[in-house]
Amino acid sequence: MKAIVNATLVMRDHLIPEAVLFIEDGMIAGFGEMRTTPVPEGCETLDAGGLFVGPGLIDIHTHASDRVFFIDDPIAAARHHLRHGTTTVLPALYFSMDQQGWLDSIACIRKAMADPRCANIGGLYMEGPYLNPKFGCDKENNPWRGPIEKAQYQPIIDAAKDLARVWCVAPEREHILDYVRDVKAANPNAVFAVAHSEAEPFQLDAVKPYGLRIGTHHTDATGTIEKYPEVKGVCVDEYVNFHDDIYAELICDSRGIHVDPFMLRLVRKIKGDDRIILISDAYAADGPTPPGYDGVYDINFDWTGEIAGSKLTLDVACRNMMKHTGASIVNVFQFASYNPAQATGFTDRGEIAVGKRADLILTDYNMEVKTILIKGEEQP
Ligand SMILES: [Zn+2]
Repeated sequence: MKAIVNATLVMRDHLIPEAVLFIEDGMIAGFGEMRTTPVPEGCETLDAGGLFVGPGLIDIHTHASDRVFFIDDPIAAARHHLRHGTTTVLPALYFSMDQQGWLDSIACIRKAMADPRCANIGGLYMEGPYLNPKFGCDKENNPWRGPIEKAQYQPIIDAAKDLARVWCVAPEREHILDYVRDVKAANPNAVFAVAHSEAEPFQLDAVKPYGLRIGTHHTDATGTIEKYPEVKGVCVDEYVNFHDDIYAELICDSRGIHVDPFMLRLVRKIKGDDRIILISDAYAADGPTPPGYDGVYDINFDWTGEIAGSKLTLDVACRNMMKHTGASIVNVFQFASYNPAQATGFTDRGEIAVGKRADLILTDYNMEVKTILIKGEEQP
């Protein structure tokens, strides 16, 4: 048995200062205040020195580290996120690949998951292939503009079915339900996300019974319908905001560029703290920093100077969320661990509770991650 002593435990809705947490066989075996919870003799101890101890961060949507895509170097990308406290990550596969590209990428991640250095890779986030080709970086090269065809998509579903936890769709695509049904047949546990879309509510309603659980990078690449010249129509954002059971992913960068700080506060108010998921959506397009953005370290630009995802990790996203919305450390652990775990079916992790995996991080009040444990083992 191992004990983390002098910890400030970050629970789902409160803190336990001056606490101890016990780990046995990679799982959380117990916890409590030190004054009432004695540490058994001979127990290996890790002194947290008063730091916060919370559940490891869970990033369900990210393409890259700060410089390399998962599909080009999964070990480097996985290690980068791990060093920033992400103990579970779903590499996101993107749309501008042909069928063979998707199959190769799935095979690459599957192989990486057998490597102990990628212990934090937990599956796949399928950002495509059937999105609205109007949206997203590199949209000019989207090869999935044509009709939805089973011969094109079924091999991808078959290759990814046990790994893919989230499938993104643009519900306005013609015959999308054929594809949605085939995804669900291959993996009944998969959930859907609405992404790169300008669907109207009736089109989203059609997908919802199959498990539409997530709004992908909420308020980014979600389109706006103009009903009449002077009247705003309703579209994806309004739908996600309306439905209490749909989670909203947020990219929270330091400047509030992906999502304006006011919008972050509005989404917090509308969705509530139990439906917000922080994602990094890191991308490695790696163009030069355009004028006016000097010193901005957590946004990624392509070679035209357009914003192309982020260079975030979830620790930084948490810090930004505290700054922009006044969220507490308890709140951000919920946004970056418990909620993403719940949305994607990781019921064995995402909170400090007896019987959950001892995926834990030690951080200061500013989400500077000091120590990372996966299944109770300190990560190098
Ligand atoms: Zn996207």
